[in-house]
Amino acid sequence: MIPLDRPALEPGLERQLARRTDTLARRGATLDRARRAWSDSSSLRRQLREVLDRMAPGVQRCMYCGDSHGASIDHFEPLARNPLGAFAWVNHLLACTHCNSNHKRDRFPVDEAGHCLLVDPAREDPVLHLQLVLRTGEYRARTAKGQATIEVFGLGRKALVDGRAAAFVRCRSMLRDIRRQLDEGGQEEAEQVADALGVQPFADVLHAMQALREQPGAALVIGAPEVESLYWLARRRS
Ligand SMILES: [Zn+2]
Repeated sequence: MIPLDRPALEPGLERQLARRTDTLARRGATLDRARRAWSDSSSLRRQLREVLDRMAPGVQRCMYCGDSHGASIDHFEPLARNPLGAFAWVNHLLACTHCNSNHKRDRFPVDEAGHCLLVDPAREDPVLHLQLVLRTGEYRARTAKGQATIEVFGLGRKALVDGRAAAFVRCRSMLRDIRRQLDEGGQEEAEQVADALGVQPFADVLHAMQALREQPGAALVIGAPEVESLYWLARRRS
């Protein structure tokens, strides 16, 4: 999971959402009505989908696991809990079938004060609650919210853990390649590898490597040429 920037919607789309919410509120927002209104809004969903595709990590990856294709729009706060949130832009994230249908479903744990115990990557930096161990691909919880997030989204499932560990090897290899290309004057090739690296699945792995690059001992974990490339990537982005 990486932090995501939620863009403002264009005014026409925002108005459509507000109208749908008003209608739902007027008729009494039950779960059934919310589900029906949502499923009847295919054109609206398509427009939202386009914005979410651009907001998603990698190439339209799931905003929770970062691995599988983001197959559908997930209501972060489930409709079963808040039917009136069906057309709330802040409640829309892109999720894969594994994370949404197999794991999260209608789960929405809250603490004693009623605050949500799931990390919303468009609202806060997941790193506050989750630590990624690069070598093993495992997530460790830093907080109760991190723990609930790992459980509810199934972030500890083997396919993800193995996938992240493999992504770490792949990222390191691509970073070394960038370093080599730059040393040999292959600026264009380096740029191409950097672009490809930027849309790899498991964007959380590269994100964690970027966060680690300034820490003491980073070169021991990531490798010295890799750390140099991470600095080059960060400068390139800014
Ligand atoms: Zn997923």
